[in-house]
Amino acid sequence: MNTLINDIEVIKTDQTTINNVDFDNLQFGHVFSDHMLECDYKDGKWHAPKVVPYGPITLDPSAKIFHYGQSIFEGMKAYKDEDGNILLFRPLDNFKRLNISAKRLAIPELPEAYFMEGLKALLKVDSDWIPKKEGCSLYIRPFIFATGKGFHASPADEYKFLISTAPSGAYFAGKLKVLIEEKYSRSANGGVGFAKAGGNYAGQFYPTQLAIEKGYQQVIWTDDNTHEFIEEAGAMNIFIRIKDTLITAPISDRILDGITRKSIIELAKAEGLNVEVKKITVSEVVAAAKDGSLKEMFGAGTAAVISPIAGFGYKDEDFELPELENTYAGFLKKRITDIQTNKCEDPFGWRY
Ligand code: PMP
Repeated sequence: MNTLINDIEVIKTDQTTINNVDFDNLQFGHVFSDHMLECDYKDGKWHAPKVVPYGPITLDPSAKIFHYGQSIFEGMKAYKDEDGNILLFRPLDNFKRLNISAKRLAIPELPEAYFMEGLKALLKVDSDWIPKKEGCSLYIRPFIFATGKGFHASPADEYKFLISTAPSGAYFAGKLKVLIEEKYSRSANGGVGFAKAGGNYAGQFYPTQLAIEKGYQQVIWTDDNTHEFIEEAGAMNIFIRIKDTLITAPISDRILDGITRKSIIELAKAEGLNVEVKKITVSEVVAAAKDGSLKEMFGAGTAAVISPIAGFGYKDEDFELPELENTYAGFLKKRITDIQTNKCEDPFGWRY
């Protein structure tokens, strides 16, 4: 039956799969909710989105996504508080970043109402899919890709915007061991590193596989030019605590403007911690590890929130981080998740 939610047409499935899902043992991004939002760009404009049953889509083999990689995405989370309110975290920032990515990949920008009202309608329909268990959330994946046809290396004339959602548990289990990259790079000046373009991730898989073979879980990317400056991780920005100062690299052409990163900077400052946004070299981090002033390293991103790093490898040497009782990572993770899940006041106005 077709209904309307927030002026968005809703076509409901008559075959829910929610009863097959073990909400006590959720992996990350592994099972998908009953519905998705679907919105098409055709004849020079985006057409009104619809909520439709989740399922496969059919594309022409010449669709430009397959050949020229015009594809961008976002990652967000929805939570449910004790009163059953559905909560998002800074969703307009994701919408704005989607359009920043769209512009860079020559994809037509999406109207805000289609994103926001479409997302709200989708979450209302699939509200039972939002896990209530601590540490779990409904991961939300908005994405746009080129459906227009043709073996010609030029922007497509048709696109699809979808949002699908996945009830999810933790992204990483436990602490991370990372490898600081000396050879490969994720992005370059003038490139697309600041965009959430699908190809940015494909390009990371091979070097990350090599790191995994050596016993690490993640690569820490360095700048493409000198490999001397710490940039970010696969899907996280990086924070480094030396003595009592928390340092993170400034964003640039090469680094994604992470919403978790900028929230942590603001939150840590408001909590009176010393935060510096500045370039930091691998040599500084290695020297700090050697003289004991390196206290913590952690990744920050929507999927993992804050992911402590236990140790890192660099030029065939391994360095371990100290096991501290009270960490900035633990403190900031609790503060940010409490704000996200409505367990405390939100002085920043981030909760939605
Ligand atoms: N860097 C990269 C490359 C990412 O893919 C992500 C995940 N979106 C992040 C950083 C963290 O960004 P956010 O905090 O907005 O999730």
